[in-house]
Amino acid sequence: MPTAIPVTTKIRTRTPTRKASVYDNVVRQFNRAADLMDLDENIRKILATPVNEITVHFPVKMDDGRIEMFTGFRVQHNNTLGPFKGGIRFHQNADLDEVKALATWMTWKSAIVDIPFGGAKGGIRFDPSKHSQAELERITRRFTWALGQNIGPEYDIPAPDVNTNAQIMAWMLDTYLTSIPPQDRGRCMHVVTGKPVGLGGSLGREKATGQGLMFCVEEWAKDRSFDLAKASYTVQGFGNVGSWAARLMDQHGSRLVAAEDVTGAISNPAGIDAEELTKYVKDNRGVYGFPKAVPVDHEAFFSTEADIFIPAALENQITGQTASMLRVKMVAEGANGPTDPFGDILLRKSGVDVLPDILANSGGVVVSYFEWLQNKRSEYWDLDEVDGKLHRKIVAAYQRVRNAAKEYDTDWRTAAYTVALARLQKVYEARGVFP
Ligand code: NAD
Repeated sequence: MPTAIPVTTKIRTRTPTRKASVYDNVVRQFNRAADLMDLDENIRKILATPVNEITVHFPVKMDDGRIEMFTGFRVQHNNTLGPFKGGIRFHQNADLDEVKALATWMTWKSAIVDIPFGGAKGGIRFDPSKHSQAELERITRRFTWALGQNIGPEYDIPAPDVNTNAQIMAWMLDTYLTSIPPQDRGRCMHVVTGKPVGLGGSLGREKATGQGLMFCVEEWAKDRSFDLAKASYTVQGFGNVGSWAARLMDQHGSRLVAAEDVTGAISNPAGIDAEELTKYVKDNRGVYGFPKAVPVDHEAFFSTEADIFIPAALENQITGQTASMLRVKMVAEGANGPTDPFGDILLRKSGVDVLPDILANSGGVVVSYFEWLQNKRSEYWDLDEVDGKLHRKIVAAYQRVRNAAKEYDTDWRTAAYTVALARLQKVYEARGVFP
């Protein structure tokens, strides 16, 4: 085991001061794939624009009696394949541009894994770490109330994302159910997914995004004849996705050598126990200060030599600047949009394999779909059933993307887009556009 190293100085993660447009990144990725596959011009126009962009401003009473105004968003990008579906994020930088991008990625993701959902995303622009549990509950409930019938079990189904969890979903569910007639409440449990188990939540949902990513990494390792038991890896973001991905990598015998989150970065070349780090993060609200590792700065974290890098925090982390620091063979994108267009070009040039977000983190929406189905059918599935079905979905999606990469002789991100766009194109061709 690595020896305990005392932590004396606090090292901050560098957060970009000016936010680049995340939606611009989506548009570039979309155009690259649409050009390559010669996507129909009309379908291109439709898919380039979200269906609805909802902004709500709402008052919430603080613990000290003051009223504060909050701003929240829900963007519904597309519902051609099924109801709008996507998470809700609480973050001080959430804005319409970011939520539009995240909603659009959800449309592609559902199409790639072949589930009957469209794409949506929501967010409230505030820093949840500055609020008590009671205030978080009131903010969540007022936001849900403000959205009103813009969400619904057969229309638009939220789920957890950054800084939201099963408890937040329970409050959303309860508020939504209160807003509809009592006779309808029993059959509307599927208005949100990612609920607590016991309140309509599915076994396996909490780990689902990390689990889906793990299944992709396993397929990649098979393709490359790569032994995961000998692999080293780094993780950025040690929340739901990052900590689950790490715990599952550890089960293969892989070695976590560095981790970073909003509190700082830590490293230990001999290995960091992911289970222990998860417990530490729960108690200390971050990786910073973990006794069996040393603190390192952002540059040192990005320059850590490892086989696999798992970004599982926010967008635009692998950039023109940081991509050239990476010394890894593969990037498995747990986060949405962690790589900006410049970072993408550099990764392609340097021959690093990339398992793109819209494939690698799709496990979350797949098990959300399973939860939705269980609620509709009044069923509870056991964990083996959930994991087995998730495995089949992810492996099939992985193979579709691999085949498209071969067919178009292109990178995996672009290939994943071609899979999604081909699926949507087919449906538009069949349905036509009214009138
Ligand atoms: P989370 O809130 O549980 O964890 C977020 C993590 O990112 C935390 O460890 C936080 O400290 C870290 N972080 C925040 N800002 C950072 C910064 N500037 N530098 C380094 N680390 C930072 O959120 P999550 O649900 O794990 O989501 C993480 C990513 O995965 C997001 O991009 C999200 O959209 C994506 N995602 C989540 C799900 C899901 O099911 N939760 C599904 C698909 C994709």
